[in-house]
Amino acid sequence: MSSEFELIAKFFTRASPSARLGVGDDAALIAPTPGMELAISADMLVAGTHFLPDADPFDLGHKALAVNLSDLAAMGAQPRWALLSLALPQADEAWLAPFSRGFLALAAEHGVDLIGGDTTRGPLNLSVTILGEVEAGRALRRDAAQAGDAIWVSGELGGAALGLQHLLGERSLPPVEAAACLARLRRPQPRIALGRRLLGLAHACIDISDGLLADLGHILERSNLGAEIRLAELPLAAPVASRLGESQALRAALAGGDDYELCFTAPADRAAAIRAAAAAAGVPVACIGHITAEAGLKLLDAEGRPMPLHETGFDHFARR
Ligand code: ADP
Ligand code: MG
Repeated sequence: MSSEFELIAKFFTRASPSARLGVGDDAALIAPTPGMELAISADMLVAGTHFLPDADPFDLGHKALAVNLSDLAAMGAQPRWALLSLALPQADEAWLAPFSRGFLALAAEHGVDLIGGDTTRGPLNLSVTILGEVEAGRALRRDAAQAGDAIWVSGELGGAALGLQHLLGERSLPPVEAAACLARLRRPQPRIALGRRLLGLAHACIDISDGLLADLGHILERSNLGAEIRLAELPLAAPVASRLGESQALRAALAGGDDYELCFTAPADRAAAIRAAAAAAGVPVACIGHITAEAGLKLLDAEGRPMPLHETGFDHFARR
């Protein structure tokens, strides 16, 4: 069995050209770019809570980094450096090799250098700290929404939640749709390029990790505002629209977690610029409603009539 140091050398020590000093010393050294602020975030994935203990290690490596990159996307930041802290039940190289490949492949895709971390024995726990840079004073904050802003979401909603239902045996999907939903669940694609292009266009932004209503709720709470959502405009993932009845589909799109899309607000007259930014980033976007001065969240049906939250089963989201 390898020592901790051999494991770190073999699986987690790579060239880190963007750092003054990377893995191997007591601390890494980085020199932030002048004029930029550091955006720093940490996210932990715990076996049994965030993933099933037998989850594929390559996927876990990808997802551990992806959920952190998604937080930087929501700030409009460019990811630069990551730290990886692992608690492992045993030094299992057959697990570590694909795990590190999944992590480092996504890191390379986004130009992120792994510059340090910690490795210890314990119940499986994957903790990543991500550092990125954003032009000083321009980050997309949760507290920056304004009354009248249009509300947008990227990509599609509900696919990851449907993938989880399939994985847990609560629902059975045909192979092609199962693969698409499981990919959404296991290999989320952080919307970095879109986040970067929203600087100067969007007011507030958040990534959807806990479901649209919960995460939009954070923007509303921090901005002291309300919202109206037009349910017919929600961009449902294709299998969600075709396989689920209306109320189950709405539930997946509004309350399903793990989609890692962006929800953002922007002045209504910037729609064309938002669509151009999204096209340049290669991600579809949908305008799903607007921010109101009056607090609270209203859901509108296809005819524009308010849909009582208790009828949809979402009353607990409305009480924030
Ligand atoms: P220390 O005893 O100073 O905490 P460690 O033995 O924990 O040092 O780590 C040695 C070096 O390896 C440090 O530079 C640390 O940042 C790095 N490191 C440890 N675990 C990981 C990991 N999982 N991924 C990347 N770097 C790691
Ligand atoms: Mg240590």
